[in-house]
Amino acid sequence: MIEEIRLKETLKEYFGYDSFRPLQRQIIDSVFKGNDNLVIMPTGGGKSICFQLPALLLPGVTLVISPLIALMKDQVDGLKANGIPAAFLNSSQTEKEQQELFSRLDKKEIKLLYVAPESLQYVDPVFQNGNIDLIAIDEAHCISSWGHDFRPAYTQLGYLKNRYPSTPVIALTATADKATREDICRQLNIPSATQHIASFDRENLSLEVRPGNKKFEQIYSFLKNRRRESGIIYCLSRKNTEELSAKLQAKGFNAKAYHAGLSHAERVQVQEEFINDQTEIICATIAFGMGIDKSNVRWVIHYNLPKNLEGYYQEIGRAGRDGLPSSTLLFHSYADVLQLQKFAENSGNSEVQLAKLERMKQYSEALSCRRRILLSYFGELVEQDCGNCDVCKNPPEFFDGTILAQKALSTIFRLKEEEPISMVIDVLRGSQNSHVFEKGYQELSTYGIASDVAWRDWQQYLIQLMNQGYVEIAFHDQNKLKLTSLAKKVLFENEKVRLADVVHIVKEKEKSVTK
Ligand code: ADP
Ligand code: ZN
Repeated sequence: MIEEIRLKETLKEYFGYDSFRPLQRQIIDSVFKGNDNLVIMPTGGGKSICFQLPALLLPGVTLVISPLIALMKDQVDGLKANGIPAAFLNSSQTEKEQQELFSRLDKKEIKLLYVAPESLQYVDPVFQNGNIDLIAIDEAHCISSWGHDFRPAYTQLGYLKNRYPSTPVIALTATADKATREDICRQLNIPSATQHIASFDRENLSLEVRPGNKKFEQIYSFLKNRRRESGIIYCLSRKNTEELSAKLQAKGFNAKAYHAGLSHAERVQVQEEFINDQTEIICATIAFGMGIDKSNVRWVIHYNLPKNLEGYYQEIGRAGRDGLPSSTLLFHSYADVLQLQKFAENSGNSEVQLAKLERMKQYSEALSCRRRILLSYFGELVEQDCGNCDVCKNPPEFFDGTILAQKALSTIFRLKEEEPISMVIDVLRGSQNSHVFEKGYQELSTYGIASDVAWRDWQQYLIQLMNQGYVEIAFHDQNKLKLTSLAKKVLFENEKVRLADVVHIVKEKEKSVTK
């Protein structure tokens, strides 16, 4: 067993820290015991030290599998700058370079060797030349199609434990729910790995969700008082990233787009400018941010709904890694839900993806503390509301919504459950829309019975009715609204319905935007 004093000295000497963060010590002890380990720790929690510190103290080499070929050189340079002997191995190297590497391994000049999963075929000679004591698998969720960032090359990694059964493995990730955790251990052939699950609570991140209308105006007022702060805006499409960054530039912000359509060199440049505070705002598709160690990101905005809570949590987790208060803002729109549903349906395991999307949607429509919902999704039960999310700061007021509900439900009934949400609202509000007239809906007895309620308020109320189980959407049938058996109780048995006062919520939000 490694002595406490040596651990502390090494931590100070190479990393400059005086003490361990929660779990780091326990994980490192477990590595030295020779266990396989699975580490689930939020972004910024301090995963790297859990394998880098043992690497320095073990006699041989630690192999690090990392998906980020683009960042490998930077990671290795960063380690070298701290005096840690590190190198990387990938397919871009010449044979001569690889021979050099092997001879340095022979001479025991390397402690950490980074390898991309695509380069697994080069690993066997390393085992002969390098005496590998530990295998670290970073971003381990990439192995699981249950996770949110599946990478086919990762599926080959199970080979390592089979081929080298006595070398301990440490798998690390920031995002994995229970099912994904089990899948990771199964695929990596480390069924009895010790699991270390850190708290996911990031108290310094404020959470806020707003309806996704007039998004640019909302973003602009959000940013007005945040000039010169670093932030990321996540978008679903490349086109959005380009348009948004152009609009922000026009308003005098230093914004850049980042997406998979850029060349490698362009991407590296955008990333570097962001890291060095030359570019304040990055409008990115989800490809951005993985593995970036930038501690002063002050805010993260989701321009579109993410497809699940793991992705969302990982992305907001890129804000406030220095522990200082940071803001996150998610725009929720019905159109995004529909689009993501289509993606999910066309994915390999649509059932799982649809269920995850449903949880995402519930979160964004929540009327109770969002952090509690989020943490409970990762298996952490919290007894108290957080006080740092929009629902806590501005709890909804409930009112007796029975009459509104009856109006909506009877309209759906009269439309024979054949129409989507937009038509239901048009009929409720007595819209003069030609689609309404074409179908003769102006003849219905409920036509225009609730024209005093604004369109977007109706949208909110209907979403609440869905969340409360009175209405369902037929996703496979043109998103028609259907009544459930609960709805019949409201229509025919006078059951009471409680609705949150969305008018109040929206007004408060607008106030907080313009503040
Ligand atoms: P992760 O890989 O979990 O996202 P990192 O390993 O990159 O996190 O660590 C996040 C930040 O926290 C880094 O800036 C790192 O230097 C810092 N850090 C890690 N461990 C400690 C510690 N024991 N004390 C102080 N800072 C630490
Ligand atoms: Zn809260």
